[in-house]
This record gives sequence, structure tokens and C-alpha cells, in this order.
Amino acid sequence: MWRSQIFWRLSGAYCILLAISLGILGWVLVNRIETRLLAEIRHNLEMKTLLIDEITARQTDTNLQQPITRLAELTRTRITLIAADGKVLADSDERPERLENHLERPEVQAAKISDSGVGVSTRFSTSVHQPMMYVARRQKTESVRYVRAALPLDAVAHEIRWLGRGVWTATGVTLLVGLALSLIIARRLSAPLVELSAAARSIAQGDYGKRVSVGSGDEVGALASTFNEMSQACAAYIAQMDQDRQQLLAVFKSMVEGVLVLDADQTIRFLNDAAGQLLGTTPEAARGQKIWQHFRHRHLGEAVDKILASAEPYCCELEWFPLERKVLAVQGACLPGQPLRGAVLVFHDITHVRMLERVRQDFVANVSHELKTPLAAIQATVETLLDGALQDPEHNVRFLERVRENADRLHRLVHDLLTLGRIESGQEVMEMGPVPLQSAIESCVSRQADRARAKGLQMIQAPPPPAPVLALADEDALAEILDNLVDNAIKYTPAGQITLRWFANGSDAMLQVEDTGVGIPERDLPRVFERFYRVDKARSRELGGTGLGLSIVKHLVQKLNGNITVISEIGQGSTFTVRLPRAEA
Ligand code: ADP
Repeated sequence: MWRSQIFWRLSGAYCILLAISLGILGWVLVNRIETRLLAEIRHNLEMKTLLIDEITARQTDTNLQQPITRLAELTRTRITLIAADGKVLADSDERPERLENHLERPEVQAAKISDSGVGVSTRFSTSVHQPMMYVARRQKTESVRYVRAALPLDAVAHEIRWLGRGVWTATGVTLLVGLALSLIIARRLSAPLVELSAAARSIAQGDYGKRVSVGSGDEVGALASTFNEMSQACAAYIAQMDQDRQQLLAVFKSMVEGVLVLDADQTIRFLNDAAGQLLGTTPEAARGQKIWQHFRHRHLGEAVDKILASAEPYCCELEWFPLERKVLAVQGACLPGQPLRGAVLVFHDITHVRMLERVRQDFVANVSHELKTPLAAIQATVETLLDGALQDPEHNVRFLERVRENADRLHRLVHDLLTLGRIESGQEVMEMGPVPLQSAIESCVSRQADRARAKGLQMIQAPPPPAPVLALADEDALAEILDNLVDNAIKYTPAGQITLRWFANGSDAMLQVEDTGVGIPERDLPRVFERFYRVDKARSRELGGTGLGLSIVKHLVQKLNGNITVISEIGQGSTFTVRLPRAEA
């Protein structure tokens, strides 16, 4: 309150007004009283001169001193009788002969010429050494004389001083009371305004919803109540905005797409976590930086320029290399509003989509290529036969066998493609149940034994573990997995043995197919499960491989909630290990 300017202005203004008006009032009062007093004294002196005139009118000039002195004593007035030539005939305070000629005295001069015969003068008396009021009257005797009554004004001045003191004391007291009242009034008037100003400052500092007390029903009260409504509306609005902002932030946080907001001079104002991850930065590091300065990516810079230059949304693709190569689709648009406020960019990671597209294209190319070779061979052989080789008993059977070989190859290829397609599309229904690994392996051995024997290979089943191991799997799928692995082992083992093992490992059921064959170079190991990937194409084709076997195995194992790994050494052999969940677990 004491620091409030409005309070001091109001109270100051009241005090100055009060002081000025009381000062003027006091001054006017004292002046009027003084004037009144002097007028009364003058009237009094006039009356006295009239009486003296009456009393002395018939007396001669010579014996006037005594009655004059007597009258002066009675009326407490100095009385002088002056002859027409100005000679003092009698004086109540001085002996007449000691007094100089009084004709030039202003009151005598005034009485001489005025119609009423009365003259007044107020001046300092040199004979009695004090201010006096003189009233002279022209006597209407035979010889003109002047009766003069005079009164010292000391008493009047004293009385006026006393009166003035009273008036000024009263004025001072009134001023003090007025001062206190003006402080109270100023406080009452300024208090709501001070409170309003403090509340407005609090709101400006973020304390939304601040209320003030509505004291009176006047304009200030109305202002306070409007302020409260405004503050409440402001708080509700800010709360709503905050809620919206939180929702928006939660949405941005949960988005897979990266969102980046720029202002008009390309300073990054916001980016969500996904954008940070996609672009290889953090929101904290990027915020406040120029986009071209932070990322130093020419194509991104060009895209931002185009987005900011056009009102239409802009889309493009970028290659991004934070750690690994990524393909990002960028969609950008300017923020609404004039002048240009900035732009928002949305980033989608389409690396996977592009990779799948490439895989699909590769797949189509591979399939076409794989189909083309045997078909071309069949076509050429059939044409040779038709061109006459059919009649050649030495070669026609060999040609027909080549047709059959290629037709078999085509059949295997189509069969593998269909199987892979079924598994990948999820059409293959898995009937999961406990499958004893021992019986699965024994069945596989019995199916493949002839082929192994024909190649002079030894098929060994490792000694069974003490307790039977049951895998939670689909029996047919498991048979297919084993057949493929053993088939490969037979194909890629020129001589030696194939060992099949199974055992439990915690909650896993493990299967191993080990051979002593050609082995797989280390750099090819990660890729052997890809479709159509073959370490040695010629050898694979020669051995009747399609390049799809391990791919089918990998997909089947994944469907059975397991995984497959391989270790291999060139010339020493390979070991494929399949891990499946145990049925007991
Ligand atoms: P393929 O029909 O050609 O055998 P797969 O998908 O079954 O196709 O195998 C892919 C490639 O992995 C084969 O071409 C071969 O080079 C290699 N491979 C698979 N199994 C073995 C193995 N037991 N020993 C050596 N190489 C193997």
C-alpha cells in the first residue's frame, strides 16, 4: 500500500487541495475581520468626534484643555482640537504649545474638503510613536475648528494577531484531520486498484485464476468482478490449452513417424523422439539450431527450402546415413498463418518397405531365371528330338531322360515355391503338439537311408538321452525340416558320415544334423537361409538343389517358435542346430 503511486497521488492531491482551500479561507477570514474591526474603530471614532463636537461646540478656544483631557480619559481616546489655521488648541496627550501645526495632517485636510466634514487617516504617529487611526471632524462653530479623535492601532493589531492565530490553529487542526481523512479515503479508493494491479502481475507471471475481492458496487467493484471473470476464463483457457498441449505431446511421443517443426528462419522448434531416432539426434541437441546447420544434409535442406517456398504440401524421399543406411519419406507443409510462421515435416522410415520391394523384385527375377533354365533345356531337347533325333535309337532315350530331369527340376522348384508361399502367407496350419524327437529322427533316417547308402554315406543316430525329449511342434513340419537338413547333408557330403543328435537344453528341445561335407565359407553363413542363395550355384543345380530348402526350413522353424543356427568349416563339414520349445516345459 505505502509503495502504491496512486495512493500517494490521491492523498497528495487531497492534501494540497485541502491546504490551499483552508489557506484561502483563513486568509479571507482574517482579512475580513481586520477590515471589520478597522471599520468599527473608525465608526467609533466618528461617533466620539461627534460627541466631542457637541460638547465643545459652545466653548471658547482658550479653556478647552481641561475638558478635552477629561473626555479623553473617559473615552480612552486621544483627543485633539485644532484651529482652522492648524494650530493645536488642546490635546489630551501633549501640551498644545509643544505640538506643531496640524493643518497638513491628512485627516484634517480630508475633513476640510469633504462634504461630510469627516476625514480619516491611519498612520504612524511621530508624537506617540505607534500606528494610530485618526478621525477628524469639521466643527460647525462660528470659527471653524477640527475635532480629532485618535486611537492607537496596537490593540487592534494585537487582536487581529490573536484572531489570526486562532484561525490558523483551527485551519491547522482541520488540515491535520483532513489529512488523516484524505489518507483514509485515498486508501479506500486505491486499495482495490492496488490489489487489481498485484493480481494482474501474478497472472502475467503465470498464476492464472487469481481472484480479487469485490468490495463495493461502484465502478471499481464492477472492474474487480469483470477482472475475476476474465481471470477465471483465462485460467480455464490456459488449462484447456495445456491439456491440449499435453495430449499433442503424448500423441507426438507415441508416434512412429518423426515430427519436426521449424520456424520461418529454419530454426528447429520441436522434434519428437521418433524424429530424433530416425535422424540420429536428440530433441535437446537439435532444438534451437538451424536445420541445415544441425543435419548438414543437402537433400533435406533443399526439401525444406521447397516446403517453405510453397503453400502446397511437399513430399520426397531421402537417403539417410546416421549409423546405417535408411530411406526416409518426408512430407512437409507450411504452418498456417501470415506472415510465414514455419513448417512441419513428417518423416516415415520406409527402409523396410523399399527393402521388401527389392526382395520381391529379386525374387521375381530369381524365380524367372530358375524356371527359364530347365524350360529352355526341355524346349531345346524336344526340338532336337522333333528334328530327327527321335529316330536315332542311340540318343533318343538320353534326350528323353534329359527332358525328364529338367521336368523333375521344374517340379521340385514349383513344389518348393508353393511350400514357401504357403508358409509365408500363413496358410500352412500348424497342429502343435508333443512330438518325440527320437521317433521323428528315426522316421527321417528311414526315409533318407537309401539315398545316403547310395552315396556311400554313413547315417549315425547319436545315443539317445536318458529321458525321451518331446518338442512342441507340428509333426509334418518337423519332418519337412529334418528331411531338408538331411537332404542337404547328403547332397553336400561327398564322403563321410551324417550324425543326427537330439537332446533337451532347459526348456528347449534341440536337434542337430552334422555332416563331414564340403562346409560353408564363413562369409556365406549369414545368407544361406535366404531364398535362392547358393554358395556354389553350379554344384547345387547339378545336385538338384533349388536354393529354397534352407529358406523353407527357417520359415518352418520360426512358425514352430524356434530358431536355427549353423556352424561350418570349409572341408570339415557343417552342423545345423534347430531349437524348438519343449512340450514338457
Ligand atoms: P539348395 O537347394 O541349393 O541346397 P538350400 O537352401 O537348401 O538350397 O541351401 C542353400 C545353400 O546352402 C546351398 O546351395 C549350399 O551351398 C549351402 N548348404 C546347405 N546345406 C549345406 C551343407 N550341409 N553343407 C554345405 N553347404 C550347404
